[in-house]
Amino acid sequence: MKLVHTARHPAEAHLVKGMLEAEGIRASVLGDQLYGAYGELPVLPTVWVLDNALAAHADGLVVDFLRGGAARRHGHDRWTCTHCGENLEGQFTDCWKCGATRPSTSQSART
Ligand SMILES: [Zn+2]
Repeated sequence: MKLVHTARHPAEAHLVKGMLEAEGIRASVLGDQLYGAYGELPVLPTVWVLDNALAAHADGLVVDFLRGGAARRHGHDRWTCTHCGENLEGQFTDCWKCGATRPSTSQSART
């Protein structure tokens, strides 16, 4: 196993894992159950690639993903959660803060 990403919160870790698995790379999230368990000591969830040979490729995918590369490829714009007002990257389909689902058509231009 190789560490490819330290996430800021469990939802991000699972998004990265899902992205990697969509690319055919088996990944695992560790530490998401411990998130916040130690009070002042932040325990951040980490994403691991099971096949070390794919770690370098996975690294590139994660960097691209976090920079919004996936969003650009899919033509998604940033969106604002209608429930809590959080501003989110286009690749997120759910609000990581409150869990609300992205409104499906509000961002689409209608002609
Ligand atoms: Zn929200």
